[in-house]
Amino acid sequence: MNSPLIVSTECPTCGAPLDFTEGTCAIQCDHCRSRLLVTGRKQLLSYFISPKLDIHRAVARALLAQKEEGVECRVLEPRLYFIPYYRLTGHDFLWERSSPTKDEPIDLSVFPPDPPQADLAATFRSASDFFGRLWETGRKIDRGEDEPPEPGEPRNAAAPIEGNRPVLEPRRERPEPVSEEGEMTFRDRYVEKNFIACDLKGWGSYSLGVRPAVLRLELFRREILETQGRIVGVTLSSDAALDLAMRKAEPEQVLYRQVLGRVLSLIYFPFWVIRVERKGEERLIFLDAVSERVIHLDAPVSLQQILDRPAASDAATVGFRPLTCPNCGWDFPFTPEDILFFCASCVKGWQIRGSALSEINYEVAAPLPNGRAASRYLPIWVLQAEVDRNPSFRFFLPAFRYRRLKLLGDLAQQLSKAQPVYTISAESFVPSQGGCYDQEDAALLARFTWAGLQGKPPDLEEKPFLIQRATLTWFPFQAEGNGLRDPFTGMDLPQNLFV
Ligand SMILES: [Zn+2]
Ligand SMILES: [Zn+2]
Repeated sequence: MNSPLIVSTECPTCGAPLDFTEGTCAIQCDHCRSRLLVTGRKQLLSYFISPKLDIHRAVARALLAQKEEGVECRVLEPRLYFIPYYRLTGHDFLWERSSPTKDEPIDLSVFPPDPPQADLAATFRSASDFFGRLWETGRKIDRGEDEPPEPGEPRNAAAPIEGNRPVLEPRRERPEPVSEEGEMTFRDRYVEKNFIACDLKGWGSYSLGVRPAVLRLELFRREILETQGRIVGVTLSSDAALDLAMRKAEPEQVLYRQVLGRVLSLIYFPFWVIRVERKGEERLIFLDAVSERVIHLDAPVSLQQILDRPAASDAATVGFRPLTCPNCGWDFPFTPEDILFFCASCVKGWQIRGSALSEINYEVAAPLPNGRAASRYLPIWVLQAEVDRNPSFRFFLPAFRYRRLKLLGDLAQQLSKAQPVYTISAESFVPSQGGCYDQEDAALLARFTWAGLQGKPPDLEEKPFLIQRATLTWFPFQAEGNGLRDPFTGMDLPQNLFV
């Protein structure tokens, strides 16, 4: 069952309802047809989910659940709370320890290719539900548990929320020997982690089960939430959240990893918390205000103090601006996944940075002197860094979108290994596409590539990785059969995997 997260808001131009899939950068209003750029990338953006369960039904459900337990109770006070959860998504690049005896090649044809963001629907193909795992993870954090499940443990609501793309899990490439010290295997997956952002000890154990409907995220608006209930304060900082998300459920065989295209957001989820008196004692009943399920029948009343802690007042949300060049007003191409844009009129380059577009400079490599014209130019970050004893090693890190992350990783490694020599073209050039990895992603991919070239995780403590500069450079690729061939190493990128 697919249940992608949909962001529901209004068109800033005409006010009509405007829904788009989480993670999309360019959208078009169905009503007035205006094309908009979604800003706020790399900021911690806040959303909320509206409750579906009203106060009367919430109380009735709580009483019924108690009755089924054979207990009578008296309702003292029902209250709606919006409890915050962090959500991290991104593309996980992993170097894993090879275990040749286990890594039998798997028939890849049964798995779909992996558009990193294009089919978000597949993200939620798992029947076990998104927020069920949210709760479970919150519970595990409460207990201080931070362990991945045992191999073979069934993937159910009690499993941690690692990699919500089970369809990608089985994909494994053949082990690639990369050094004498050992073998590392590349693996990629789509990361999606959700976990509670406040400290609720004594929470208990429960799961929410399958959620049949699409979850709609609305942009956080304090005044709207406060008319409905109370906003629970965040106690886990976003840095600590990122740290936790990166550390959690990292299997033993992972030697090194980087998460590119990271997006961390905050989602406020509604729960009814009903204070009851039972056998002379006050207890709390928790209900999921979306699925209407009873989450906890017997929680300690002390939890309410934590829920009632004041919440900080600031929260950023996505913004919109016209999908046009800030310099000349020309329309940008409508490419929902791109974060780098190039104007076909004034040929300037831009990247989404917070609520604005900031200009990026670029260079163009001259075609190789083999007499053949380029079929297509692709944007690649050339990042110069001081690594090991080399004062100016150049990394070549693809900035373009491609379905098979493995091949992007391979291209980065092969080009960086080759350290190609080329000249910069002075000819006029009109960029023909955008990109989906920014400079920060390039720096992460450079570390990942360095680990691959070394055949071991980099010891960044002892040998810091000093980035000197990063320049987006367009390189000429040549069509060869069904592939696009990189002019320096001859590596082919199948054309059908471009998006
Ligand atoms: Zn509109
Ligand atoms: Zn322009």
